[in-house]
Amino acid sequence: MKIFDSSLINLEKASKYIDLPKWFLKQISVPERMIQFNFSFKRDSGDMEMVSGYRVQYNNLLGPYKGGLRFHPQVNMDEVKSLAFWMMIKDAVVNVPFGGGKGGLELDPKKFSEKELERLTRQFTRELAPNIGPEIDVPAPDVNTNSKIMDWLENEYSKVVGKKMKAVVTGKSVRNGGSLGREAATGMGGFFVLEQLIKKLGLKKPLTVAIQGFGNVGSNFAQILSKHNYKIVAVSDIKGGIYDKQGGFNIDLVKKCCEEKGFLSGCYCIGSVCDLAKKIDGGVITNEDLLQLPVDLLIPAALENVITTENAKKIRAKIVFEMANGPTTYEADQILNKKGIIVVPDVLANSGGVTVSYFEWYQNMKNEKWNLEKVNKKLQKKMEDAFANVWKIHQEKKVSLRTAAYILALQRLFKKTKPQ
Ligand code: NAD
Repeated sequence: MKIFDSSLINLEKASKYIDLPKWFLKQISVPERMIQFNFSFKRDSGDMEMVSGYRVQYNNLLGPYKGGLRFHPQVNMDEVKSLAFWMMIKDAVVNVPFGGGKGGLELDPKKFSEKELERLTRQFTRELAPNIGPEIDVPAPDVNTNSKIMDWLENEYSKVVGKKMKAVVTGKSVRNGGSLGREAATGMGGFFVLEQLIKKLGLKKPLTVAIQGFGNVGSNFAQILSKHNYKIVAVSDIKGGIYDKQGGFNIDLVKKCCEEKGFLSGCYCIGSVCDLAKKIDGGVITNEDLLQLPVDLLIPAALENVITTENAKKIRAKIVFEMANGPTTYEADQILNKKGIIVVPDVLANSGGVTVSYFEWYQNMKNEKWNLEKVNKKLQKKMEDAFANVWKIHQEKKVSLRTAAYILALQRLFKKTKPQ
C-alpha cells in the first residue's frame, strides 16, 4: 500500500467517531496543490545533472502552508504528499495557525559539495519563490537539511522579492532571525509529552530507551532524556547502532564521538575510539535488532515505514514513541495495539518542531526576540495542552492515541471550513 493511502485510513477511522459531512472528508483527503520541479543543475565538475524537487501544499484551513524540506534520494510525490498531510493533522493537534505542507529534493546530499548544496538550494528557492512567502507557505528543515540551508533559502527568496523576508522560512540560524530553542524543539516537545504520559501511566523512572535515528531529532531527544533520568541503552543511525544494556550511554559523549567520526557505529568501544570516548562502553547492533530490544520506550526518529508487519510482532517495548513521521505502517499499528503496546503518534509526539517554528515565524513577523526560557515555557504549555486534549478523547471514546489525535484534528479543521 502507498504511504498516502495508509495515512487516509487513519483519517477515515477517526471520522467514524464524529459527525462530519462527506464533502468535508473528501476535501481533506486530497492535497490542494502538488508541485513538481525538474531542473538541470551544474556540478562543480561542469557536468550537468537533472534534479527533481517537490512541494505539496496540502491544506491551508488553519493558516499558511507549513512543513519541512527534505533532501533525500527516496523523496517522491507519494512521500511528500503523506508528509504534508501529517503536517495538516499535526498543526491542528498542537493548535498552531498553520496548514499542511512539505517538500524536498530527490538526491543524496552526501554526494554533493557544500558549494553545490548552496547552489542547489538557491536554484530550488527560485523555482519555489512564486509559491512561498510568509503568509502563503513557510518551509522549514527536515531530514538532511539544517539552519545553514534555511539561511540560504531566506537569502535567495529575499533577493527574488527585493526585500529582507525573514519569515519566509523557519529553522534559520539564530543570528539570521532563527528562534532560540528551535534546534532542540522537536526533542524538547517530545519530552514534555512523554513526561505527561508516564505520569498518567504511573511509570517510575529510570526507564530504558532505544532510539533509532541520531540526527537533529534523535540526538537532541536523547540528550534531553538522559538529563532527566531516562537510561538510553541503544542508539543508531543509517550505518547501524550501539547498545549498552548495563548502565546506558553518556549521550553527550556519544554525540561528540558521532560528530567526530561521522557515524555512530564508529563509537563502539574499540581501539582508538575507546581512547576518544572512554566512557562509551557498548556493543554494535543493527537497526532491525534495535527495534526488538526489551526496553520501556522504543523511539523511531529516522524515516517512515520502519515498523512493519514483519517486525511488529517482535517488538518488546512497552511504549512506541514516534518522533519520526510515519514510522509505523497501518498494519503494524494494528499489531502493536493488539499486543497492548502504547503508541504515541507522530502527529502529537514530534509536534514541538512546528510549534517553535510557529514561535520563530511570529517573532519574525512582529520583530520580536524571545529568550530561551520564554520559548520553552510556551512550548511546554502547547505540548501539555495537546497531550491533555488527546488523552481526554482517548479515554472518553476508548480509542488509540492516534485515533484520538486525528479526532481532535478533524474537529479543529472542520470548525475552520466553509463550503465554497
Ligand atoms: P536528520 O537528517 O537530522 O537525521 C536523520 C537520522 O536518521 C540520521 O541519524 C540518519 O543517519 C538516520 N537514518 C537515516 N536513514 C536511516 C535508516 N534507514 N535507518 C536508521 N537510521 C537512519 O533528520 P531529522 O530532522 O532528525 O528527522 C528525523 C525524523 O523526524 C524524520 O521523520 C522527520 O520528518 C521527523 N521530524 C523532524 C523535525 C525537525 O524539526 N527536524 C520535526 C518533526 C519531525
